[in-house]
Amino acid sequence: MTRKERYEKTLEWFEQEMPIAETELNYENTFQLIVAVILSAQCTDKRVNMITPALFEAFPTPQKLAEATPEQVYEYIKSCSYPNNKTKSLLGMARKLVDDYGGEVPSDIDSLLTLPGVGRKTANVILAVAYELPAMAVDTHVFRVSERIGLTRDSKTPLQTEETLMKYIPEDIIPKAHHWLILHGRYVCKARKPLCESCGLRSFCRYYPIEQKRLEKEAIAKLKKQEEKRKQKEKEAAARKKAKAKEKSNPKPLEPPIEPIAPELPIADNNQPDDNNQPDDNNQPDDNNRGRS
Ligand code: SF4
Repeated sequence: MTRKERYEKTLEWFEQEMPIAETELNYENTFQLIVAVILSAQCTDKRVNMITPALFEAFPTPQKLAEATPEQVYEYIKSCSYPNNKTKSLLGMARKLVDDYGGEVPSDIDSLLTLPGVGRKTANVILAVAYELPAMAVDTHVFRVSERIGLTRDSKTPLQTEETLMKYIPEDIIPKAHHWLILHGRYVCKARKPLCESCGLRSFCRYYPIEQKRLEKEAIAKLKKQEEKRKQKEKEAAARKKAKAKEKSNPKPLEPPIEPIAPELPIADNNQPDDNNQPDDNNQPDDNNRGRS
């Protein structure tokens, strides 16, 4: 299958199976979106969505956020990953928006990249989601899924992946394709255990046969181990049986009877007065006869 054919089949499948694909971050305007995207780095969208309602209420505009102290912002975002760094990024981003962009989020990548906390991926998300421009944000899911399906080949960097995807995917569906790949990576083509058996892309996924072989090898290794264990147990049981049989055919010699030990006679003490030689009480003078003789 050529790479072009693989792209066509993949995009067709996504179009059919996932006609609506959007970000899972909650936001109401571009400023809220940029805040949420900064917070979502190394953090789940679910966690970010728990944090942002109170944060947006406290700091509804870039101006309000720019006036805040780090301690105030930290209090709202402390439950997400890297809260210290993200506090700095949010304050820096808001101050830059106020100072250099009139409080508006810019819509070109070069300006977006001047904002603290905004890298290429975040900038592309803003362009694609907020401005619906053909921008491909490559995060860990997009990178992995593109490589597995075969949309990219031995890509070394997110930028390389971005350039390849931009080359093959029609411009008008690039923002949607970004979400297709993210959502597919998040829920089906997971990093550790891709759910290939329930994936509709498997008939043309480049990785699927490789994964099958890996699983096959894993299963064979497991069976081998079980077989070895079973054989070992059998060996041990046979050894025990043999030992028992030997014991039966060669009974232990009877132990010689224990000779009774004669009780020791008490040794006579010749120095002790013999009871028989004790003076007879009868020889004692009778009190009644005292003085009569
Ligand atoms: S078949 Fe497996 S590896 Fe390929 S895209 Fe689907 S889940 Fe990922």
